[in-house]
Amino acid sequence: SENRRIRDDAKSKAAFERAKQVIPGGVNSPVRAFKSVGLTPLVIARGEGSRITDIDGQSYIDYVLSWGPLIAGHAHPEVVEAIKRTAENGTSFGAPTEIETLMAELVCERVPSVDIVRMVNSGTEATMSALRLARGYTKRNKILKFEGSYHGHADSLLIKAGSGVATLGLPDSPGVPESVASHTLTVPYNDLESVKLAFERYGEEIAAVIVEPVAGNMGVVPPLPGFLSGLREVTSRYGSLLIFDEVMTGFRVHRNCAQGLYGITPDLTCMGKVIGGGLPVGAYGGRREIMEQMAPVGPIYQAGTLSGNPLAMAAGYTTLKLMTEEAYELLECLAVRLQTGLERNAKEAGVPMTINRVGSMVCPFFTDKHVINYEVAKQADAQTFRAVFRSLLDGGVNIAPSAFEGWFVSTAHSEQDIDLTIDAHRTALRGL
Ligand code: PMP
Repeated sequence: SENRRIRDDAKSKAAFERAKQVIPGGVNSPVRAFKSVGLTPLVIARGEGSRITDIDGQSYIDYVLSWGPLIAGHAHPEVVEAIKRTAENGTSFGAPTEIETLMAELVCERVPSVDIVRMVNSGTEATMSALRLARGYTKRNKILKFEGSYHGHADSLLIKAGSGVATLGLPDSPGVPESVASHTLTVPYNDLESVKLAFERYGEEIAAVIVEPVAGNMGVVPPLPGFLSGLREVTSRYGSLLIFDEVMTGFRVHRNCAQGLYGITPDLTCMGKVIGGGLPVGAYGGRREIMEQMAPVGPIYQAGTLSGNPLAMAAGYTTLKLMTEEAYELLECLAVRLQTGLERNAKEAGVPMTINRVGSMVCPFFTDKHVINYEVAKQADAQTFRAVFRSLLDGGVNIAPSAFEGWFVSTAHSEQDIDLTIDAHRTALRGL
């Protein structure tokens, strides 16, 4: 394709070498290091709309979007303006501001299960706080999560994806005490029978089930029909809380989040990414009676020097306001166009590929299997992914450097961007 080029990465390489001297692995979050694809990461100079430009001066159509947040694209003029205007009046006070209430009202209005919401600074903080709340509220210690789900890096949630029924967790990461890990049960995603077995055995001890209503950290895996409603039913029966981790899906798959899309009401909801419009924000909210167990109303503690920070609130609020019904319709059209094109390429090239998509979360797996859980997702061809990743980069398309991440589309992507992407993908598959 005419867009292809020999990538110049001299400046990125030098900058990354320098970074490695003073930052572990040269990055402030591990997967950015491009280790699994065996390349030097692009060091980014700027972003605008659907594109990013690296310090070597090359531009790429971007489907990473900061790993999800930038649903309106990079440096959206209204978001940038809101941040500037807010910054001129001071960046942080550690005291109430009106924008926090505006933001909370908007979230409560859009998210069906949320009566009341607390802002934090990351998705990790949101899930960690929601777990503490669930444990404090139910006076139980165990939690149940799903294999291949990621809920941030709080100790209780960094648990190895084991197989089988209600496997007692072992630390996935050195540094997580076994005494903490032992409270985390893991079962396969979309496997309601295993959830029921876990509850038969440990039901009275389980504080909460935490689930990504669309799994987005093993590629993209939608819930099978009956899975989410089954979780709702089981947790209610045993007096456990159902926590939806909508850090990735919140305001991404639907204007009213995944819970609006599927019509299931969790007790607590965790948010992040889109809600911060590209600034560091997380949030957790839910039923008033539960949320008011948090200090200062109740006894369970959680706090933050920068929580509800005005800049973050301004960026998030402006982004959510941009996301009208029409905006979600546009995302759907673009994502369908992308999916259709990628599927056509795979068919033409005879490459086994299955695409899972929910709204603007699109994930091509290099397998012909129906991907319903981590076990199947892991069977996708990693070597093919690596080759396609590299070829896409040469063709001017940036996707996440991991086969276990979907592609995100933004409202800033044009049909032409999508078509150029499909061309680059066709070239990539033909070159295998
Ligand atoms: N939950 C989910 C579902 C996520 O996808 C992520 C991040 N990818 C997190 C929690 C953690 O969020 P953060 O990186 O902002 O701490």
